[in-house]
Amino acid sequence: MIIIPEREIAGLISAADCFVAVERVFASMARRSAYNFPVVRESIGHASALYGFKSGFDRENLSLGLKAGGFWPDNAEKGLTNHQSTVFLFDADTGRCRAIVGGNMLTALRTAAASAVSIKYLARADAKVLGMIGAGHQSTFQLEAALDQKLFEKVLGWNIEPNALSRLEAVALKRNIPFERVSLDRLGAEADVIITITSSFAPILKTVQVRPGTHLACMGTDTKGKQEVEASLVAAATVFTDEIGQSIAIGEAQHAINEGLMEADEIVEFGNVVCGNHRGRTSADEITLYDGTGVGLQDLAVASAVVELAITRGVATEMDL
Ligand code: NAD
Repeated sequence: MIIIPEREIAGLISAADCFVAVERVFASMARRSAYNFPVVRESIGHASALYGFKSGFDRENLSLGLKAGGFWPDNAEKGLTNHQSTVFLFDADTGRCRAIVGGNMLTALRTAAASAVSIKYLARADAKVLGMIGAGHQSTFQLEAALDQKLFEKVLGWNIEPNALSRLEAVALKRNIPFERVSLDRLGAEADVIITITSSFAPILKTVQVRPGTHLACMGTDTKGKQEVEASLVAAATVFTDEIGQSIAIGEAQHAINEGLMEADEIVEFGNVVCGNHRGRTSADEITLYDGTGVGLQDLAVASAVVELAITRGVATEMDL
C-alpha cells in the first residue's frame, strides 16, 4: 500500500495535471463508465463537526475509493485547516487498499480544475476579463487554474471583506495580470467570466448585474441553503453541472428549482459537453452557468493521478497493511 502525506502533494501534482484528470472524469461520468455512490454526511455531535464520505468507481481508469472527511469549525484555533480529508484508493481487481492520500490540497486543486474545465468549454473564445467573487482559502486555487486557460488580460475582484482581496491580487500580479478591487455592479458589467467561491447563504450577485454572454462558475454552493447568485439569474442561464442530483439538492440550482423558476430537466450534465454529446454554448449572448457541487469521482481522479506520479518519480512510500 502506498502512502502520500499531505505535505508531499504540492510537490507532486500540478494544477495542469489536475485539469487533465478532472476533464477526463467528466467525460467518463457522461459515458456512464464512472458513477458516484450516495454521499454520507453527518453532524457527529462532537466538536461541532460535520463528517462523511464521498465515493465512487471509474471503470475507465479503475479508480475505486472514497474521500473521508469533513468540517471541524474549531480547527483554526489549533493551527489546523477546518476542512480535513483523506482519500483511500482500492485495487479494483482485488479490493485491497492501494493507497492513502492526503486530501486537503487535492480537494482545493480538483475544485479549481472543475471551474477551469468549465471555462475551457463554456466561456466565449474572446473572453478577456475574469471576475472573482470571494477571497477565502479556495479562491487563489480557482484563480490560478482559471488563469492557466490563457484567456484573461485583467482580473476584477470583490469580497465582503475587501482586505482579503490582497491574496487574489498577489496571484494576478505574480502572473503580470492587472487586478482591480471593484463593486459588484462593475464586476458584472465588465467580466466575461465570473467565478463565485464564497460560503454565502444569500444571493450576492444579482441578475441585473450580469451581462449577456457571461460564463459563471458557481463553486461555493455545496450545501442545502447556501446561495451565491440570484435564483432568477440561474433560471436565465443555461445551467451545466457535475451531477444533476447534487445541483438540485445542494447546488446553486436548488433555489431556482424550489422557487419554480426552472425545471430539473433543463440542467445539462457538463460531462456531455466534454465528450461532445452537447454543444455547450450556442450563442455569444447566452449566459452559461456551471454549478460546481463537487463529486467524489473528482477526488479519486486527482488522487489516482498523484499516486501514479509518485510511482513514476520513485518517491512513493510503500508499506504492508
Ligand atoms: P473560506 O472560509 O476560506 O472563505 C469563505 C469566503 O466566503 C470568504 O471570501 C468570505 O469573505 C466569503 N463569505 C462568507 N460569508 C459570506 C457572505 N455572507 N456573503 C459574502 N461572502 C461571504 O472558505 P473556502 O475554503 O474559500 O471555501 C469557499 C466555499 O467553497 C465554501 O462554501 C466551501 O464549502 C465551498 N467549496 C466547494 C467545493 C466544491 O466542490 N464545490 C469545494 C471546496 C469548497
